[in-house]
Amino acid sequence: MDGPTCAGPQPFGEDAFSTFYDGVCAEVRALGIEQFRAEFDALDTDSERVSAVLRLESAGRLRLPTASRTGKSEQQARSYLEMAMNCTDSSRKLVLCNTALQHCPAPAAGAAPSELHLAVLLNRLWTVYELGRFSSGLAEAQRLLDEPALAAAPVETRVQLLVERARFEAALAHRPAAEASVRQALQIVRQLERQQQAMYARELGTIRKRLTDAEPAQADSSAPGPPPAPRLFAGEHERLRRVSSAVELVTSERRGRHLVATTDIPPGSVVIADEPFAWSLHPPRWTTHCQHCCRPADCPLPCPNCASVLFCSQPCRSEALRLYHATECPVLDLLIDPNLGRMALLVFRVLARAGPEALERAEELDSESASDVYDSLAYEAVHSQVTNTADRPMGDVIKRCAVALYLTACLQRAGVGSAERRVAAAALALRHLQSCSCNAYEITELRLGGGGARLAEFEELGGAVYAAVSLTNHSCFPNVVRSSRGRGVTVTTTRPLRAGDELLDNYGFHFHEEEETARYAALRRQYQFHCECAACEQGWPLYAELADGAPPGAEQRAAVELLVLGRYAEAAARLAPVVAADGAGEPSAPPDKQAVQRQSLFIRCIQSTGNISAE
Ligand SMILES: [Zn+2]
Ligand SMILES: [Zn+2]
Ligand SMILES: [Zn+2]
Repeated sequence: MDGPTCAGPQPFGEDAFSTFYDGVCAEVRALGIEQFRAEFDALDTDSERVSAVLRLESAGRLRLPTASRTGKSEQQARSYLEMAMNCTDSSRKLVLCNTALQHCPAPAAGAAPSELHLAVLLNRLWTVYELGRFSSGLAEAQRLLDEPALAAAPVETRVQLLVERARFEAALAHRPAAEASVRQALQIVRQLERQQQAMYARELGTIRKRLTDAEPAQADSSAPGPPPAPRLFAGEHERLRRVSSAVELVTSERRGRHLVATTDIPPGSVVIADEPFAWSLHPPRWTTHCQHCCRPADCPLPCPNCASVLFCSQPCRSEALRLYHATECPVLDLLIDPNLGRMALLVFRVLARAGPEALERAEELDSESASDVYDSLAYEAVHSQVTNTADRPMGDVIKRCAVALYLTACLQRAGVGSAERRVAAAALALRHLQSCSCNAYEITELRLGGGGARLAEFEELGGAVYAAVSLTNHSCFPNVVRSSRGRGVTVTTTRPLRAGDELLDNYGFHFHEEEETARYAALRRQYQFHCECAACEQGWPLYAELADGAPPGAEQRAAVELLVLGRYAEAAARLAPVVAADGAGEPSAPPDKQAVQRQSLFIRCIQSTGNISAE
């Protein structure tokens, strides 16, 4: 739906990174790749790797563009508003209004918004009405009426906002509230010129008629509120934050750090409810979703400084500014260059949130013993994630070194870190560029898209660093599934676990979807490990080759009907006992087709209880 004119923010100064990186590559080729490799592969630490790239003559040629385009512009705002007013597709019109608002220069503290600003806000309200997003529109009209700065706006603005509030209230059949809005508007309408009085009186008359006719409430298609907060099975672990007390963290030579059930856990139990230390939305979603909580936002608020990001509410905006956005704001458009890869902004946010102290203490953190408490929101947990440097080809690591140096320059531009600490900061960035590519997870949303629950599809909104979830290993026959909740994620059991069973997530394909070689290739590309699950070890066949199994029972058929109706949680509850009967642990033989279908259905139900969008 987004056209090229407003498909999220546009990167700026793309040439800066590409020119720098191309120079590095050319110099390595000129020096002789094999000769460079002999030295590079022998290096032990990220500091040494970054330093090796820094010693290249071309590394001195990294120049960030001096001007940035992140600033607001009245001219841009005006042209987006014009586009919005000429647009016949309401969804796109809303995106254009929000883009216009992003570009609108913010009024000085306490001053009334400019005429342009008000025009954008009113056009957005009308568009939200056209889209039938009445609750969102009502909340926005109320927010504007409560805005102290609007007391200084012309009387007509107040009348317009009261009329809009009344229209939203009438659509939602909030009759007494709508009556009150109409009366309030009529009281001040007298202060306007006669012609305007007549116009608003007509509009208010129409609304009144709706109310006296007692028209029923119209269907509301506002962005849905947050899904209910998940409850951890058996409460929270004493030392593992946001992890169930029925799970323990275990370390072994073969499996690394991993999570094991300490009691029997039934299917459908939430075992992790994690929050990310850092996260980012993919740029096309920057005009439709809150940058901070990652939920769809009909009437978002812009950043007071840059023209790139939007927030669903004042609390989200304040918290984002405090945690990471104040740091990234002046350099944000330098960080969304597609040549940098999707991890660049995520890693920048890890470092921005970790703050200058982490850059100062980077070397100490390496040698520090792990703290007693494992908390995804503490930088130490993110710092301790594996990097798999030894398994990466040299070209891959060199590119990451170049990105790390570029990010360090951006951090310095944003006032974090100093030239003297450049190597340490770049080494830290390199560490996270590696650990994030095997520990970052997607944030997803189920998009109903007008086709109902049956045709709904999951869309990837962005990426996030979940330190607790990253303690789970992969299996091609997993026993847990992830489901996004805002920027957070829950991990729910999909099969019964016995005490001693490892929690197994799936980072690629399930055994019945793809041949072992294809599964393996998909995994190795990103996660650099060898799968030892029962399906891989025993060479289980694909779905078509599995035994048929008994036909679905009444509970399973009922669950399918509930799923089609979009009653996902109920469907999952109906299926849980059926799935439990399929047995626990790593089986010695593959499940039959019906058991696989029950698993897929159960997984679908659980995933669908997370983020959802009507659009
Ligand atoms: Zn938000
Ligand atoms: Zn900003
Ligand atoms: Zn496997």
